[in-house]
Amino acid sequence: MRIDRCLEILVPGCVLAGALFIVTDAAKALGVIQSASTLTITGVALLLIGATSGLMNYVITRRNSRLLATEAAQVISAGKAKFLEVPDSALGPLVVAMNDCFLATEKSVQHAMAQVKELEIQLKVATSQRQQARAIIYSINDAVLVTDSFDEILLANDAAGKVLGLDTADIQRKPIDQVISDPTFVSLIRDMRASKSRNERRVVEHRIRRNGKDGVFKLTLSAISEGGAESSGVVAVMHDMTRENEIARMKNDFVSSVSHELRTPLSSIRAYVEMLVDGEAQDEKTAKEFYDIILGEANRLGRLIDNILNISRIESGLVEIKRQPLSVLVLVKEAIEVIAPQAKLKNIRLEEHLEPSFYQTNADKDMLYQSVLNLLSNAVKYTPEGGTITVRTGVDEENRKLSVRVIDTGVGIPPKDLPFVFDKFFRVEANKNVAKGTGLGLSLVKNIIETVHGGKIICESKVGRGSCFGFELDLC
Ligand code: ADP
Repeated sequence: MRIDRCLEILVPGCVLAGALFIVTDAAKALGVIQSASTLTITGVALLLIGATSGLMNYVITRRNSRLLATEAAQVISAGKAKFLEVPDSALGPLVVAMNDCFLATEKSVQHAMAQVKELEIQLKVATSQRQQARAIIYSINDAVLVTDSFDEILLANDAAGKVLGLDTADIQRKPIDQVISDPTFVSLIRDMRASKSRNERRVVEHRIRRNGKDGVFKLTLSAISEGGAESSGVVAVMHDMTRENEIARMKNDFVSSVSHELRTPLSSIRAYVEMLVDGEAQDEKTAKEFYDIILGEANRLGRLIDNILNISRIESGLVEIKRQPLSVLVLVKEAIEVIAPQAKLKNIRLEEHLEPSFYQTNADKDMLYQSVLNLLSNAVKYTPEGGTITVRTGVDEENRKLSVRVIDTGVGIPPKDLPFVFDKFFRVEANKNVAKGTGLGLSLVKNIIETVHGGKIICESKVGRGSCFGFELDLC
C-alpha cells in the first residue's frame, strides 16, 4: 500500500477519534450522558487513537526502513562506502552497525586496491624483466635450453634449435626425451636436475652430430634451485668449440708451416752460397744459375715475411697506404715476369689476355702488386705439371670497374672449403700435399682488395677442373 493511501485512511480516523473524545468529555461535563456509556465511548475513542497511532508508527517505520534499505542497496551496489545518517528510531543501532561494517569494508577495499596496484607494478616489472631475459637469451650465439622440474622444455633459443635440430616454435612444455634425439644430452640434463647438491654447475665437452659432421661443444649445465631436494630445472648452454678448435689447430699448423717455409729458402740460400764460396761453380753459367736460385729463394722469403707483416699491419690499421693512379696492366705484366720462371719449372703455360687500356685505378702499387703475385703464385702452386694459367684483365666502362682474373687448370677447391679460403691460416685439407703454404696469401689479398681499396674479390673453383681468383676495382 502506498503511504499517501494510508494517510488518506488514517487521518480521518484520527480526526474522528479526537472528535469522539471531545464530545464524550463535553457530555460528561454537562451531565448529559451516564458514566457507563461515558466509559464505553471513552474506551472506544482510546482504542481508536491507539490503533491509529500504532498504524501510523508501523507505516512510518516501514517507509523509513524501505528508504534505508534502498539507500544501503545503492551504496553497496555502487561499491562505495557511504555512511548512512543514523535515524532517531529503533533502526539506529542497526544503521550504526552497518556504518561500522562500511568503514571496515572500505578499509579492506582500500588495502586490497593498494595490493592490486602493487601487484600490477610487480607484474609489469616481472613481464619486462622476462622479456629482457628472453631477448638476451635469443640474441646470444650460444645454444640455450631451459627445462623445468619435469624435464620439460621451457625455452630454447634459435641457436639451440639449430644445434639440436628442433623446431623451437613447437617444443614448449614437451618432455626433452620426446624432442631431443641425443640420449647422452638428455641424461646429462636429467642427472643435473636430480642432483642433490644445489646450485651445481657442470662443464663437459659434448659432441653433437650435425649435418653428418661431429660438432664439439662446451656444455655448461646449471641447476635452478628453489630450495627443494631436487632442482626445479636446468639451464644448458652449448658453446660451439668446433671453430675455436679448428683455429687453434690452424695456428699450430701455421707455426710449423711458417718455420718450414722460412727454413726451406734459407737452407737453399745457405747451400748455394757455400757452394759458391767453395768454388763449386766452375764456370760463369753455373755461377749465374746459383745466383738466380739464391735470388729466387731470397724473394720467396721476402714474400712470406711481407705477407705475415702486411696482414698484421692491415688488421691493426697501422699500414701506411700510398694511393696513386696507376695502370694495372703494367703491374700485372711485372708480376707475370716474376712468376714465369716458377711456371716454367712445372711446364705450365702462361697465357696473357691483357686488354690494352689507358684506364687507371687509384691504388697502392706495392700492395696491388703483392695481391696479383699471390694469386699467380697460388695458380702455379696448385696447378699440376703441364697445366695452363690464363691472366685476363678487363674494363667495364659502364660500371667504371676494372678486373683482373687468374684462371688455372689446377686441382680446384671443394665447395665446402671455398667460403673459408680467405680466412687466415686456412688451408684446404685435400690440397695440403699438393704444395706447401701458410694459409696467409689469400687472406692478405682479400684484406688489400676489400679492406684497403674497397674492391671486390672474385673466386670460383671446381675440383679437378681449376680455379679462377681475381678482383674488381673502381676506375679513376
Ligand atoms: P697457402 O699458403 O696455403 O697457399 P693461401 O691463403 O694462399 O695459402 O690459400 C689458402 C688455400 O686455398 C690454400 O691452402 C689452397 O688449398 C687453396 N688455394 C688457393 N689458391 C688456389 C688455387 N689456385 N687452386 C687451388 N687451391 C687454391
